[in-house]
Amino acid sequence: MDKIESSTTFLRNLPGIDTLLQTKTSERLVAEAGPQYLAGLARRVTDNMRDELRQAFESGGEFDKDAITRETLLTEAESRLEDAWRSEQKTGLQRVINASGVIIHTNLGRAPLSDEARKAAVDNASRYCNLEYDIETGKRGKRGARAEKLLTGITGAESALIVNNCAAACVLVLTALAKGGETIISRGELVEIGGDFRVPDVMEESGAKLVEVGTTNKTKASDYERAITENTKMITRVHPSNYRIVGFTAKPTVAELAEIAHRHGVLLYEDAGSGALEDMTRYGLSDEPRIAESISAGADVVTFSGDKLIGGIQSGLIVGKREVIEQIRRNPLYRAMRASKMVYAILESTFDSFRRGDAFERIPVLRMLAASKSDIRQRTLEFVHALTEKLGEDSAVSFEVGEGRSVVGGGSAPAVQPQTTLLAVKHKDLSASEVEKRLRNSNPAVICRLVEDRAVLDLRTVQPDEEDELLAAVASLNLKKMDNG
Ligand SMILES: *Cc1c(COP(=O)(O)O)cnc(C)c1O
Repeated sequence: MDKIESSTTFLRNLPGIDTLLQTKTSERLVAEAGPQYLAGLARRVTDNMRDELRQAFESGGEFDKDAITRETLLTEAESRLEDAWRSEQKTGLQRVINASGVIIHTNLGRAPLSDEARKAAVDNASRYCNLEYDIETGKRGKRGARAEKLLTGITGAESALIVNNCAAACVLVLTALAKGGETIISRGELVEIGGDFRVPDVMEESGAKLVEVGTTNKTKASDYERAITENTKMITRVHPSNYRIVGFTAKPTVAELAEIAHRHGVLLYEDAGSGALEDMTRYGLSDEPRIAESISAGADVVTFSGDKLIGGIQSGLIVGKREVIEQIRRNPLYRAMRASKMVYAILESTFDSFRRGDAFERIPVLRMLAASKSDIRQRTLEFVHALTEKLGEDSAVSFEVGEGRSVVGGGSAPAVQPQTTLLAVKHKDLSASEVEKRLRNSNPAVICRLVEDRAVLDLRTVQPDEEDELLAAVASLNLKKMDNG
């Protein structure tokens, strides 16, 4: 009896939603969150507190009655309201520092933009712009014309078309060119590319029938040729991206496939995935298909991503023969997949860089790929030096510099792991996963990697203008310990 009475007394001390919404905290938050959303959060906070109090009474534990006065409960509710709002905001997009060494990090947005590309998006496309307007004539202009023209220039293709992403490009190409017919594909290329992109599933969505030939490790030119029937519209070749079959393997070249396709009056389509515009052999990326080579070897249409190894923004780039591209452009699906003005602005800037020949200096993913082991070692040592000065003596944080490997990522070049210098960050009282968690909860968030139970930073993927923030985040591991006593 006693217990029930005190339970209701305490529950009566719990602030109502209106009381909570009239506090200084709510007055401050309402402008950010909006009245309706904040009221919803306030309801959740008070409901949770009521449940917790009830549960605590029911379990019959000891109570510090002074701790559950009207005032303390209101203070607690205000603080929970604030936390609830902050944690909702954290789910929004925000910049992070990628210290993981994974260059094309799918979960971190694949490719960071170059400064020029970012400026182009803001300056050229974020207000009214000439997206479909010809300034010289004052008449309607062609959407994406310059980006497409630049793309033909750097690939040697006759024509180009740009859509939202490479998966869309695949569906569009197959729908426009092979729907209702058959397309021949090697069993070695029926792979899952990641992020739920399964080549056979996506392809069948287009309404083209997939005719599988060869085996997982070997497919010969004659396998393709034998499978050609009167229903065949196309031969499809897919770059296996994040997957490699090594050892006893064989597949025909693009030129061989083009010869077979054209002799039988069908098309050759290559989905190159990452797509290299430059020769990447120097950086160990020898088996990424070069778009210009596929085009000159006779492919009728090639698709690839606008980020990944191009280092622009997510988009699906389609290049090929003029009539083929025009047929794709006329398909109604194109209208549903066409790119936005921001995408064109960023791609123009990115392609300009390839045309000028400074892509490896200006485009972040290419600059990161090209960074040598000694560049990174030098940067790391300088970083450690600055950090040691900042931390001073008796620091709880210590470091170890060692050799390691970066990762290309994004489904590109799985076998290539550039040599790098790794910086292990250690704290005398914290575990590696605690260090990782604290860095992740810095502002901006720092994403590191756990290697053999150590939290490590790889400066390859950290941009030079982020180093000060990274330094502050690592240095504050020292302070945080003191905060927590
Ligand atoms: C990555 C990839 C895709 C999908 O590209 P998105 O831009 O993510 O849509 C399609 N095909 C291949 C071969 C790829 O590597």
